[in-house]
Amino acid sequence: MENLINRYSNWLKLQRVVAYILRFGKKQRNHQTVNLSAEELQSARNVIIRETQKQLFKDEMNKLVNDKHISNATQIINLNPFLDKNGIIRVGGRLKNAELSYCKKHPVILSKSYLSSLIIKDAHHSTLHGANRLTEAVIRRQYWIIGLKNAIKSCIRKCCKCIRYNQVTATQMMGDLPDFRVSPFTYIGVDYAGPFQMSCSNGRERKTIQRLCCSFCMSFNKRHTSREAVSDMSTESFLTALRRFFARWGKILPIYSDNGKNFVGANRWIDIEFNDAVKKNNEVSSRVRSRWQSRQQCCKIFVCRAVWTTKG
Ligand SMILES: [Zn+2]
Repeated sequence: MENLINRYSNWLKLQRVVAYILRFGKKQRNHQTVNLSAEELQSARNVIIRETQKQLFKDEMNKLVNDKHISNATQIINLNPFLDKNGIIRVGGRLKNAELSYCKKHPVILSKSYLSSLIIKDAHHSTLHGANRLTEAVIRRQYWIIGLKNAIKSCIRKCCKCIRYNQVTATQMMGDLPDFRVSPFTYIGVDYAGPFQMSCSNGRERKTIQRLCCSFCMSFNKRHTSREAVSDMSTESFLTALRRFFARWGKILPIYSDNGKNFVGANRWIDIEFNDAVKKNNEVSSRVRSRWQSRQQCCKIFVCRAVWTTKG
């Protein structure tokens, strides 16, 4: 049996081979299909494990068969081992009354061997190349392998796919960031959030009111945000918040927003004010004109669908 086990590197294939050998050994020719049943695979598994345990725990098995106490010097004495009805050594433990399956309560005892490495490899593959803890958890459902953690580490260390996918990728020096990513509030986005509870006082009494939060956020860098409280969703409230923002942070370049009615209304209002100003003063200097045009361009972009969607 040892030679047979050593010939295969796949746990499932080994079970199937042994199952076919057992089938033909019984000389039962009345099978309806060539496919193996679950019972036949289970029998093959039991045979393989029992034969392996006879080699790994020869003295312990002899004593358990003869109902003798096993030596205290053996490495499985702490597991309270016993023989099940199939002649396999299992963990005794203290989970007899637990609502678990029989295999979980009394896992099969194995130690470092070729069969153990096959079982570990099979669990590692069945978990899609799972890490140490996941592979260990899957194996513990049925087997108690002595020195399991080190064996799993060794198995994963030798796995070609894990080696390939866990390689550290090459890094390279990145170029300098563009100016709009290092200058706060150069390119900004705007959106509303809330409502939030805010406390206000008129000097005599303090009360809590609900206010929305108009959040200006620098595009491409969410760490720079400025928040202005607004009373409602109207265009006037937004323009007031926008004035406060301009006063605090100065000139800005395009503002990105969604198509909120207040944003569209603000854009329309600024367009009207701009046209009125042009009509009233036709002698606007080229410098001022360019500034207004720049501002108008900003507000045109107001109403475009934004690339900035994060709500602050
Ligand atoms: Zn792997």
